[in-house]
Amino acid sequence: MKNAVIITGGGRGIGAATSVLAAQKGYSVCVNYRSNEMSANDVVSEIQKAGGEAIAVQADISVEADVERLFQIVDDQLGTLTALVNNAGILEQQMKMQTMTLDRWQRIFNTNVFGSFLCARAAVPRMSRSRGGQGGAIVNVSSLAAYTGSPFEYLDYAASKGALDTFTKGLAKEVAEEGIRVNAVRPGFIATTMHADGGEPNRIERVKAQVPMKRGGTPQEVANAIVWLLSEEASFTTGAFIDVAGGR
Ligand code: NAP
Repeated sequence: MKNAVIITGGGRGIGAATSVLAAQKGYSVCVNYRSNEMSANDVVSEIQKAGGEAIAVQADISVEADVERLFQIVDDQLGTLTALVNNAGILEQQMKMQTMTLDRWQRIFNTNVFGSFLCARAAVPRMSRSRGGQGGAIVNVSSLAAYTGSPFEYLDYAASKGALDTFTKGLAKEVAEEGIRVNAVRPGFIATTMHADGGEPNRIERVKAQVPMKRGGTPQEVANAIVWLLSEEASFTTGAFIDVAGGR
Protein backbone atom coordinates (compact mmCIF):
# COMPACT_ATOMS: atom_id res chain seq x y z
CA MET A 1 0.00 0.00 0.00
CA LYS A 2 1.22 3.53 -0.82
CA ASN A 3 2.01 6.11 1.82
CA ALA A 4 -0.82 8.56 2.36
CA VAL A 5 -0.70 12.35 2.45
CA ILE A 6 -3.44 14.71 3.59
CA ILE A 7 -3.43 18.09 1.86
CA THR A 8 -5.81 20.49 3.55
CA GLY A 9 -7.47 22.83 1.06
CA GLY A 10 -6.18 20.51 -1.65
CA GLY A 11 -8.92 21.29 -4.14
CA ARG A 12 -7.79 24.71 -5.32
CA GLY A 13 -4.73 26.92 -5.82
CA ILE A 14 -1.48 25.86 -4.14
CA GLY A 15 -3.17 22.85 -2.53
CA ALA A 16 -4.40 21.52 -5.89
CA ALA A 17 -0.94 21.80 -7.46
CA THR A 18 0.53 20.06 -4.40
CA SER A 19 -2.05 17.25 -4.57
CA VAL A 20 -1.27 16.50 -8.21
CA LEU A 21 2.50 16.61 -7.67
CA ALA A 22 2.35 14.44 -4.54
CA ALA A 23 0.38 11.83 -6.51
CA GLN A 24 3.02 11.92 -9.25
CA LYS A 25 5.63 11.24 -6.56
CA GLY A 26 3.75 8.13 -5.46
CA TYR A 27 1.59 9.22 -2.52
CA SER A 28 -2.04 8.27 -2.22
CA VAL A 29 -3.60 11.68 -1.72
CA CYS A 30 -6.44 12.91 0.47
CA VAL A 31 -7.70 16.12 -1.14
CA ASN A 32 -9.45 17.93 1.70
CA TYR A 33 -11.84 20.78 0.96
CA ARG A 34 -14.26 22.90 2.97
CA SER A 35 -17.04 23.79 0.50
CA ASN A 36 -15.87 23.60 -3.11
CA GLU A 37 -16.63 19.95 -3.82
CA MET A 38 -16.46 20.31 -7.57
CA SER A 39 -12.87 21.53 -7.73
CA ALA A 40 -11.73 18.88 -5.22
CA ASN A 41 -13.38 16.20 -7.37
CA ASP A 42 -11.66 17.64 -10.46
CA VAL A 43 -8.28 17.26 -8.74
CA VAL A 44 -9.09 13.67 -7.76
CA SER A 45 -10.15 12.88 -11.35
CA GLU A 46 -6.94 14.37 -12.74
CA ILE A 47 -4.87 12.21 -10.37
CA GLN A 48 -6.86 9.06 -11.13
CA LYS A 49 -6.70 9.60 -14.90
CA ALA A 50 -2.91 9.71 -14.59
CA GLY A 51 -2.97 6.38 -12.72
CA GLY A 52 -2.68 7.78 -9.20
CA GLU A 53 -4.75 7.21 -6.09
CA ALA A 54 -6.79 9.98 -4.45
CA ILE A 55 -9.97 10.69 -2.53
CA ALA A 56 -11.74 13.98 -1.79
CA VAL A 57 -12.90 14.51 1.80
CA GLN A 58 -15.01 17.42 2.99
CA ALA A 59 -13.95 18.71 6.40
CA ASP A 60 -13.75 22.18 7.91
CA ILE A 61 -10.32 22.02 9.57
CA SER A 62 -11.35 24.63 12.14
CA VAL A 63 -13.90 22.15 13.53
CA GLU A 64 -12.40 19.53 15.87
CA ALA A 65 -14.90 16.77 15.02
CA ASP A 66 -14.37 17.34 11.28
CA VAL A 67 -10.61 16.91 11.67
CA GLU A 68 -11.06 13.67 13.62
CA ARG A 69 -13.40 12.36 10.90
CA LEU A 70 -10.97 13.42 8.13
CA PHE A 71 -8.08 11.48 9.66
CA GLN A 72 -10.26 8.45 10.39
CA ILE A 73 -11.38 8.31 6.73
CA VAL A 74 -7.74 8.37 5.63
CA ASP A 75 -6.89 5.55 8.09
CA ASP A 76 -9.75 3.49 6.70
CA GLN A 77 -9.42 4.23 2.98
CA LEU A 78 -5.88 5.34 2.13
CA GLY A 79 -3.56 3.56 4.54
CA THR A 80 -0.49 4.66 6.47
CA LEU A 81 -0.34 8.41 6.93
CA THR A 82 3.24 9.64 6.49
CA ALA A 83 2.66 13.20 5.33
CA LEU A 84 0.49 16.21 6.09
CA VAL A 85 0.39 19.55 4.31
CA ASN A 86 -1.31 22.24 6.38
CA ASN A 87 -2.22 24.34 3.36
CA ALA A 88 -5.79 25.51 3.99
CA GLY A 89 -5.85 29.20 4.80
CA ILE A 90 -8.12 32.20 4.54
CA LEU A 91 -7.97 35.96 4.48
CA GLU A 92 -10.71 38.56 4.34
CA GLN A 93 -11.35 41.98 2.83
CA GLN A 94 -8.39 44.37 2.83
CA MET A 95 -8.71 47.02 5.55
CA LYS A 96 -6.85 48.84 8.32
CA MET A 97 -6.52 47.04 11.61
CA GLN A 98 -8.72 49.44 13.59
CA THR A 99 -11.78 48.60 11.49
CA MET A 100 -11.46 44.82 11.90
CA THR A 101 -13.82 42.87 14.15
CA LEU A 102 -13.12 40.21 16.76
CA ASP A 103 -15.33 37.81 14.76
CA ARG A 104 -13.07 38.21 11.77
CA TRP A 105 -9.89 37.65 13.80
CA GLN A 106 -11.42 34.51 15.28
CA ARG A 107 -12.41 33.14 11.85
CA ILE A 108 -8.91 33.70 10.51
CA PHE A 109 -7.08 32.25 13.50
CA ASN A 110 -9.53 29.33 13.77
CA THR A 111 -8.60 28.13 10.27
CA ASN A 112 -5.03 29.33 9.73
CA VAL A 113 -3.68 28.59 13.21
CA PHE A 114 -5.98 26.27 15.17
CA GLY A 115 -6.94 24.26 12.06
CA SER A 116 -3.27 23.54 11.47
CA PHE A 117 -2.80 22.71 15.17
CA LEU A 118 -5.73 20.28 15.07
CA CYS A 119 -4.42 18.52 11.95
CA ALA A 120 -0.89 18.28 13.34
CA ARG A 121 -2.25 16.95 16.63
CA ALA A 122 -4.09 14.23 14.72
CA ALA A 123 -1.09 13.41 12.50
CA VAL A 124 1.65 13.17 15.14
CA PRO A 125 0.44 10.04 17.00
CA ARG A 126 -0.21 8.27 13.68
CA MET A 127 3.37 8.98 12.51
CA SER A 128 5.25 8.58 15.82
CA ARG A 129 7.73 5.73 15.93
CA SER A 130 7.14 5.21 19.66
CA ARG A 131 3.51 4.38 18.82
CA GLY A 132 4.28 2.01 15.95
CA GLY A 133 4.24 4.63 13.20
CA GLN A 134 6.94 4.93 10.55
CA GLY A 135 7.74 8.62 10.99
CA GLY A 136 6.65 11.27 8.56
CA ALA A 137 6.74 14.88 7.46
CA ILE A 138 4.52 17.88 8.03
CA VAL A 139 4.71 21.01 5.89
CA ASN A 140 2.95 24.15 7.03
CA VAL A 141 2.04 26.69 4.36
CA SER A 142 2.88 30.02 5.94
CA SER A 143 3.35 33.28 4.04
CA LEU A 144 5.91 35.99 3.46
CA ALA A 145 3.29 38.12 5.20
CA ALA A 146 4.68 36.70 8.46
CA TYR A 147 7.71 38.97 7.82
CA THR A 148 6.01 41.97 6.27
CA GLY A 149 2.94 42.20 8.54
CA SER A 150 0.68 43.13 5.58
CA PRO A 151 -0.06 46.70 6.74
CA PHE A 152 -3.31 48.29 5.45
CA GLU A 153 -4.41 44.92 4.07
CA TYR A 154 -4.53 41.95 6.42
CA LEU A 155 -2.59 42.32 9.67
CA ASP A 156 -4.65 39.51 11.15
CA TYR A 157 -3.77 37.10 8.33
CA ALA A 158 -0.08 38.04 8.62
CA ALA A 159 -0.13 37.53 12.39
CA SER A 160 -1.75 34.12 11.94
CA LYS A 161 1.14 33.12 9.68
CA GLY A 162 3.62 34.39 12.28
CA ALA A 163 1.96 32.05 14.77
CA LEU A 164 2.25 29.20 12.27
CA ASP A 165 5.99 29.87 11.90
CA THR A 166 6.55 29.70 15.66
CA PHE A 167 4.46 26.53 15.79
CA THR A 168 6.64 25.03 13.04
CA LYS A 169 9.83 25.67 15.02
CA GLY A 170 8.48 24.31 18.29
CA LEU A 171 6.77 21.23 16.89
CA ALA A 172 9.85 20.33 14.83
CA LYS A 173 11.87 20.07 18.05
CA GLU A 174 9.13 18.28 19.96
CA VAL A 175 8.67 15.44 17.44
CA ALA A 176 12.15 15.08 15.90
CA GLU A 177 12.93 11.95 17.93
CA GLU A 178 9.68 10.41 16.73
CA GLY A 179 11.00 10.48 13.16
CA ILE A 180 8.73 13.36 12.18
CA ARG A 181 10.07 16.41 10.35
CA VAL A 182 8.16 19.70 10.45
CA ASN A 183 8.95 22.47 8.00
CA ALA A 184 7.22 25.41 6.32
CA VAL A 185 7.13 27.26 3.05
CA ARG A 186 6.52 30.99 2.89
CA PRO A 187 4.97 31.86 -0.47
CA GLY A 188 5.06 35.43 -1.75
CA PHE A 189 2.51 36.71 -4.24
CA ILE A 190 1.09 33.60 -5.93
CA ALA A 191 -1.51 33.58 -8.69
CA THR A 192 -4.60 32.08 -7.05
CA THR A 193 -8.12 33.27 -6.39
CA MET A 194 -7.25 34.04 -2.76
CA HIS A 195 -6.56 37.67 -3.72
CA ALA A 196 -10.18 38.03 -4.85
CA ASP A 197 -11.23 37.10 -1.29
CA GLY A 198 -9.33 40.19 -0.15
CA GLY A 199 -11.28 42.30 -2.66
CA GLU A 200 -8.47 42.72 -5.21
CA PRO A 201 -8.40 39.91 -7.81
CA ASN A 202 -5.60 41.63 -9.76
CA ARG A 203 -3.47 42.40 -6.70
CA ILE A 204 -0.37 40.74 -8.17
CA GLU A 205 -0.33 43.21 -11.08
CA ARG A 206 -0.25 46.09 -8.57
CA VAL A 207 2.42 44.65 -6.26
CA LYS A 208 4.73 42.72 -8.57
CA ALA A 209 7.14 45.66 -8.86
CA GLN A 210 8.06 44.97 -5.18
CA VAL A 211 9.36 41.53 -6.17
CA PRO A 212 13.02 41.39 -7.26
CA MET A 213 12.00 38.92 -10.01
CA LYS A 214 9.24 41.37 -11.06
CA ARG A 215 6.48 38.77 -11.23
CA GLY A 216 4.13 36.70 -9.11
CA GLY A 217 4.68 32.99 -8.60
CA THR A 218 2.62 29.99 -9.68
CA PRO A 219 0.99 27.38 -7.45
CA GLN A 220 3.28 24.82 -9.13
CA GLU A 221 6.39 26.69 -7.95
CA VAL A 222 5.15 26.50 -4.35
CA ALA A 223 4.11 22.86 -4.72
CA ASN A 224 7.65 21.98 -5.84
CA ALA A 225 9.07 23.28 -2.55
CA ILE A 226 6.37 21.62 -0.43
CA VAL A 227 6.81 18.20 -2.02
CA TRP A 228 10.59 18.45 -1.73
CA LEU A 229 10.25 19.12 2.01
CA LEU A 230 8.00 16.04 2.29
CA SER A 231 10.50 13.87 0.45
CA GLU A 232 13.44 11.82 1.64
CA GLU A 233 15.71 14.30 -0.14
CA ALA A 234 14.94 16.61 2.80
CA SER A 235 15.73 13.89 5.37
CA PHE A 236 17.96 16.13 7.57
CA THR A 237 15.81 19.23 7.20
CA THR A 238 13.45 20.10 10.02
CA GLY A 239 12.29 23.32 11.64
CA ALA A 240 13.26 25.00 8.37
CA PHE A 241 11.60 27.50 6.04
CA ILE A 242 11.70 27.95 2.29
CA ASP A 243 10.66 31.37 1.00
CA VAL A 244 9.06 30.94 -2.43
CA ALA A 245 8.76 34.63 -3.13
CA GLY A 246 10.93 35.66 -6.07
CA GLY A 247 13.60 37.18 -3.83
CA ARG A 248 11.25 39.46 -1.89
P1 NAP B 1 -7.10 29.47 -2.29
O1 NAP B 1 -6.91 29.30 -3.76
O2 NAP B 1 -8.04 30.50 -1.76
O3 NAP B 1 -7.47 28.03 -1.68
C1 NAP B 1 -7.68 27.90 -0.31
C2 NAP B 1 -8.05 26.47 -0.04
O4 NAP B 1 -8.21 26.33 1.39
C3 NAP B 1 -9.35 26.04 -0.68
O5 NAP B 1 -9.20 24.74 -1.20
C4 NAP B 1 -10.35 26.04 0.48
O6 NAP B 1 -11.38 25.05 0.36
C5 NAP B 1 -9.43 25.66 1.63
N1 NAP B 1 -9.94 26.06 2.94
C6 NAP B 1 -10.14 27.31 3.44
N2 NAP B 1 -10.61 27.25 4.69
C7 NAP B 1 -10.73 25.94 5.00
C8 NAP B 1 -11.17 25.23 6.13
N3 NAP B 1 -11.59 25.86 7.24
N4 NAP B 1 -11.17 23.87 6.09
C9 NAP B 1 -10.75 23.21 4.99
N5 NAP B 1 -10.31 23.83 3.88
C10 NAP B 1 -10.32 25.17 3.88
O7 NAP B 1 -5.72 29.78 -1.57
P2 NAP B 1 -4.20 29.64 -2.02
O8 NAP B 1 -3.76 30.94 -2.54
O9 NAP B 1 -3.97 28.39 -2.78
O10 NAP B 1 -3.54 29.49 -0.56
C11 NAP B 1 -3.14 28.26 -0.01
C12 NAP B 1 -2.26 28.57 1.19
O11 NAP B 1 -1.15 29.36 0.75
C13 NAP B 1 -2.98 29.38 2.28
O12 NAP B 1 -2.58 28.94 3.54
C14 NAP B 1 -2.46 30.80 2.03
O13 NAP B 1 -2.48 31.56 3.21
C15 NAP B 1 -1.05 30.51 1.56
N6 NAP B 1 -0.46 31.62 0.80
C16 NAP B 1 -1.01 32.03 -0.38
C17 NAP B 1 -0.43 33.11 -1.05
C18 NAP B 1 -0.95 33.62 -2.36
O14 NAP B 1 -0.45 34.66 -2.83
N7 NAP B 1 -1.90 32.97 -2.98
C19 NAP B 1 0.68 33.74 -0.50
C20 NAP B 1 1.19 33.30 0.70
C21 NAP B 1 0.61 32.23 1.34
P3 NAP B 1 -12.60 25.21 -0.70
O15 NAP B 1 -11.98 24.95 -2.05
O16 NAP B 1 -13.57 24.18 -0.32
O17 NAP B 1 -13.08 26.62 -0.55
